[in-house]
Amino acid sequence: MLTLEDSRLTVDDLIAWLVRFDEQIVEHAERLTELDSAIGDADHGTNMARGTAAVRLRLTEARPDDAGAVLKSCGMTLVSTVGGASGSLYGTLFLEMAKRVGAASELDTTVFADAFRAGVAGVVARGRAEPGDKTMIDALQPTVDALSTAAAGGVPLTKSLQAAAAAAAAGRDATIPLVARRGRASYLGDRSADHLDPGATSAALLVQSLADSHAERVR
Ligand code: ADP
Ligand code: MG
Repeated sequence: MLTLEDSRLTVDDLIAWLVRFDEQIVEHAERLTELDSAIGDADHGTNMARGTAAVRLRLTEARPDDAGAVLKSCGMTLVSTVGGASGSLYGTLFLEMAKRVGAASELDTTVFADAFRAGVAGVVARGRAEPGDKTMIDALQPTVDALSTAAAGGVPLTKSLQAAAAAAAAGRDATIPLVARRGRASYLGDRSADHLDPGATSAALLVQSLADSHAERVR
């Protein structure tokens, strides 16, 4: 039996997701920075932690009224606090999702899958990375595909999000052998191979955070 809670994401579910994301970023910040020190400038963990802490504070101080407002607040806060390439890219992800969902108070799997697709399309338009370029897109695009497949198959939300998280993690891991073609890591040329991409790693945490926070809330 589908429960109501397992068929849609409410405003509180979205806030719980972003609080969980902040917890995960804090837990993994050192590791993210270490990954970025190998192929970038050693700031991805600190960049992200600054942003997710600000998002969390803002959302818990004043609860937005609808899903679009949660996502917009998150996107604007990330743009203004994260810095680095990832700030505007993660910001775009959330701002484009916000535009797509508008003033909806709840998002079902299909609407969420659609919104996430629009968000990732925004990141691609801004950063011009394609799958295989060793960026966050390598985790985000498989997420889009998994969500769409799940939505088309009428899969319950918890399972859809678990499939999405597994797809994101596989995409993250697949960045190891790749040579970076976008972002700072691309300056290294072939020497960027044999390393996990930091942005794909934080993006996998983003999707896993949603799968976990939602599974806990419907339990
Ligand atoms: P910066 O590279 O400016 O120091 P961060 O270290 O915070 O920013 O983020 C680096 C991550 O951003 C990379 O690991 C990569 O996943 C992602 N990234 C960089 N450039 C792009 C791009 N053009 N498109 C998509 N993702 C990108
Ligand atoms: Mg960096």
